[in-house]
Amino acid sequence: MPVDLNASVPHSARIYDFLLGGKDNFEADRQAAAEIVKHSPSIPVSMRANRDYLARVGHFMAADLGIRQFLDIGTGLPTTPNLHQVVQGVDPSARIVYVDNDPIVLVHARALLTSSAEGSTSYLDADLRDTTTILESAEVRALDFSRPMAISLIAILQFITDEDEAYRVIDTLIDRLAPGSALAISTVTAHNEQAVQGAKAYTARGIPAKPRTDDEVRGLFRGLEIVEPGVTLVNRWRPDGAIPEDFHVQMAGAVAVKR
Ligand code: SAH
Repeated sequence: MPVDLNASVPHSARIYDFLLGGKDNFEADRQAAAEIVKHSPSIPVSMRANRDYLARVGHFMAADLGIRQFLDIGTGLPTTPNLHQVVQGVDPSARIVYVDNDPIVLVHARALLTSSAEGSTSYLDADLRDTTTILESAEVRALDFSRPMAISLIAILQFITDEDEAYRVIDTLIDRLAPGSALAISTVTAHNEQAVQGAKAYTARGIPAKPRTDDEVRGLFRGLEIVEPGVTLVNRWRPDGAIPEDFHVQMAGAVAVKR
């Protein structure tokens, strides 16, 4: 079936790709990106910092928490490294299910399906809000729910602007998981005027986005145990120094464990 990319309307996955220096975007996305950067000049560095955070968080959940199954929702376009490369670098038998609802990500999903021979990667075209579709899919049911699993919601929750909906989605997913499972989040912080302006600029272009305070981000982890250093700007989370810690990026996040 041909995929409708809706090229004349800006899409968050393609704006993100463009701002990271990728090629999978259209004129409408580039125009929207240019306007958004005018309102919010630190967005490209923040996205880079967010992508680096995703790699550190993936490594942490595999190497330190010992998790071998990953459900990554809001995957985005393939880049280097993708989550499965990070976690299969720790253990080649790791299994990853990627989920995104954007047709452009679906088109490029093949580049995500480069698993090690011992592990597996699969891709599911679904909406984060359709938790039943996700949990009942063949891809996700192939994972072992009796063993720990990591769910990563990296740079997606700003697009779930209704707090009750965000709680419902997270609670439904976490409820299914075995003890020892983990949740990793990053989302747009309200503690940065540029992030607030950036969210407004997205919203004005038909992509509703919501910044959250650290307390609101902590609230998303209800009932879970947040690991050190807690909710923080993503470049300050177990930093590797690539983006200096004194740079005020636009994304905050944390990792938490289900006991
Ligand atoms: N996690 C990646 C990409 C973030 S960009 C990273 O941090 O680098 C946000 C992604 O979330 C986009 O690919 C967009 O298509 C996807 N997305 C936004 N809303 C979604 C929804 N309701 N369901 C599934 N995917 C969604």
